[in-house]
Amino acid sequence: MTDSRTPMATGGCQCGAVRYALYVAPQNAHACHCRMCQRATGGLFAALAGAPKGDFAWIKGAPRFFASSNLAQRGFCADCGTPLSFAYGIPEARIYVTIGSLDAPENAAIERQYGVESKLSWVRFCEATPQEITGADPKAAEFFAQMKSNQG
Ligand SMILES: [Zn+2]
Ligand SMILES: [Zn+2]
Repeated sequence: MTDSRTPMATGGCQCGAVRYALYVAPQNAHACHCRMCQRATGGLFAALAGAPKGDFAWIKGAPRFFASSNLAQRGFCADCGTPLSFAYGIPEARIYVTIGSLDAPENAAIERQYGVESKLSWVRFCEATPQEITGADPKAAEFFAQMKSNQG
């Protein structure tokens, strides 16, 4: 794959089979504490930073995708299992990458926390960072109302 643009951020999985590039600085870096993100990452929360879909490319290999719900796809390396991406299936939505898979995660400081209704009570993390409950915004609530989870 060739792209004449200069990446503003790059990253990839732990085995090196899958690499990606963002052609903008990582946007809306956030933690999502929702139960689906906990299960998808196997972690206590997902840490994600995004780019408009047109400012993102897979530049080496390709991830496999799991549709964690009818609304979202989560990309991961089929060889080593690293969780790599999250995106809603609507064109205007950003694609997000896991902050830990960025080559320079220091540049994607978490600005917001989502899904705090499922935040684990003993997680002390970014306490001063603004927090939002899933569906707090009426537009978001309408979107999430159509969601059907594919997590078992
Ligand atoms: Zn890999
Ligand atoms: Zn989430």
